[in-house]
Amino acid sequence: MKPVVIVIGGTDSSGGAGLSRDITTLTELGCEARPVITAVTAQTDLAVHAVTAISPDHVAQQLSSALATGPVGAIKTGMLHSSETVLAVAEVLADFATIPLVIDPVLASSSGTPLLDPDGIAAIKTHLLPLCTLVTPNLPEGQILTGNERPELQAKALLELGAAAVLVKGGHGDGEASIDQLFQTGQSTREFAAPRLNATLRGTGCMLASAIAANLSLGHTRHQACSLAKDFVAHKLREAACQV
Ligand code: PLP
Repeated sequence: MKPVVIVIGGTDSSGGAGLSRDITTLTELGCEARPVITAVTAQTDLAVHAVTAISPDHVAQQLSSALATGPVGAIKTGMLHSSETVLAVAEVLADFATIPLVIDPVLASSSGTPLLDPDGIAAIKTHLLPLCTLVTPNLPEGQILTGNERPELQAKALLELGAAAVLVKGGHGDGEASIDQLFQTGQSTREFAAPRLNATLRGTGCMLASAIAANLSLGHTRHQACSLAKDFVAHKLREAACQV
């Protein structure tokens, strides 16, 4: 039987990011996806035109139903839209602490539109981070969540808030390689590098976190899951760069 991963997030009508990216990634990696929709966005690659939220109660019902359908190997969150939805998700997940939880802290689209309200950022820090196996901020997200610029300080702050591990993604940094750093309390930092490519591919954050969740559900360790996911996304970026 294929392992099941629950993906909690928003839809993106351009197909570039969000749940459709999550589901494609999981399917490609041999997992089955159970989607939980938090918001429906009308967007192109260039702009978010409208966002309609699903009510937090309904999100909680979708999530409870997804969990009741059968065994779940991992859970991944993406766009959560509001503090009320973060709280609804955290309340349900608190009873399922043994299932690996990967949080992609989606704060805004590449085009700059906020995808989580300011109270939602605080709610993630207080209510969701303590439940997670791994949180995967890029450098700007890490800075907003912690007020720090440096990856090691961002990770320290997020670990102190209760995250079991932090993967700070280097995609927004500079240098020839894009280096992601995995921080876990009591362990040395692990690095995953890939060549920095001149490719415009949206939804790489969704793809990476979903691939990590898929690999966790397939039984890989956190370190292996991150390493395999980094290679998976680097391969997709190479394909996209060849098409430019
Ligand atoms: N829209 C949705 C629904 C998302 O979940 C995300 C990211 O996770 C985005 C947009 C942002 O993607 P991008 O940074 O590629 O614009």
